[in-house]
Amino acid sequence: VFSSVVQAPEDPILGVTVAYNKDPSPVKVNLGVGAYRTEEGKPLVLNVVRRAEQLLVNDLSRVKEYLPITGLADFNKLSAKLIFGSDSPAIQENRVATVQCLSGTGSLRVGGEFLARHYHERTIYIPQPTWGNHTKVFTLAGLSVKTYRYYDPATRGLDFEGLLADLSVAPPGAIVLLHACAHNPTGVDPTLDQYEQIRLLMRSKGLLPFFDSAYQGFASGNLDADAQSVRLFVADGGECLTAQSYAKNMGLYGERVGALSIVCKSADVTVRVESQLKLVIRPMYSNPPIHGASIVATILKDREMYEEWTIELKAMADRIINMRQLLFEALRTRGTPGDWGHIIKQIGMFTFTGLNREQVAFMTKEYHIYMTSDGRISMAGLRSQTVPHLADAIHAAVTQ
Ligand code: PMP
Repeated sequence: VFSSVVQAPEDPILGVTVAYNKDPSPVKVNLGVGAYRTEEGKPLVLNVVRRAEQLLVNDLSRVKEYLPITGLADFNKLSAKLIFGSDSPAIQENRVATVQCLSGTGSLRVGGEFLARHYHERTIYIPQPTWGNHTKVFTLAGLSVKTYRYYDPATRGLDFEGLLADLSVAPPGAIVLLHACAHNPTGVDPTLDQYEQIRLLMRSKGLLPFFDSAYQGFASGNLDADAQSVRLFVADGGECLTAQSYAKNMGLYGERVGALSIVCKSADVTVRVESQLKLVIRPMYSNPPIHGASIVATILKDREMYEEWTIELKAMADRIINMRQLLFEALRTRGTPGDWGHIIKQIGMFTFTGLNREQVAFMTKEYHIYMTSDGRISMAGLRSQTVPHLADAIHAAVTQ
């Protein structure tokens, strides 16, 4: 009965790893998927995560009962504080409905489904370009996806004029997806001043902000600094949604830990919103998994463990920043044509190199370097040792 099922294409990002795994070359480098690697090229489990897991294992009062539909209550409260700030009026006034979801992706999906059912405007504007999964997540949630200009290839920076122009002609009430920090794939973020202008425009048109926060702490190494954009919008008392992921900043990728928060105008609206979120979640997966959220809650509620986390997080962010510097210098030393300043200017896990599809294909074929075809490289997959090989490949690709 399934003989007419056609072969589906590989996922454009995860497919890079599939191709990498098949390559027998000893010099191959995977700069496709956005997962942190140590200077030795190994995946990293944070020390503080290991400690939290030990505490959990040793606590024999812990059982494996189902969580509520909305997840672990402590985890939800602490996650809201992490993104909005512990002194956030929205939290103090009980205007935030937070539900534990399956990492960032699940949080975006639950948020999208809620909006499709309960919000009057179905159109969501996402940046051009954006993380490849956004279009699919929101389309399948029942929203209609449109794009707004974001990146200017000529300056390898923000197309701020284009962004404002596109949002100013969006239908009133439209939803706008914003990356809270470390925009994926471009590594280009608006400045705080630009965010303020975006906020003024969006509020004046009643556009609804939906923040995707997948990299809090990864951009600058500072959790509060990376939440500034979100806090600017929450401070004006208006509504917004936020999808948080602990995949990168706690290295909990496969544990699938995240949270969706909806900031409402009043406490009684918040109660009703939460009741409807439960109706979205229950038929999808009933309730979320317990282990990863327990790790996060253990770390966030203990002052000393929280401190340890921030130090380990900063070390990851700093290693990435260091890789940017090394790659930039390696290209300068080789006299590679072009201005590579964007490598050190861009923020977060990725560099949007500006290399085109053909150049990327050349680098994969001749140098066994794997990356997405849009020229995005994951700086977190780079090590001091592999920088010269990458620089040789880029040099050859642009001078061939
Ligand atoms: N949003 C963005 C912008 C991302 O880059 C990612 C991960 N690559 C996610 C959301 C979701 O990640 P996860 O579901 O693993 O938390």
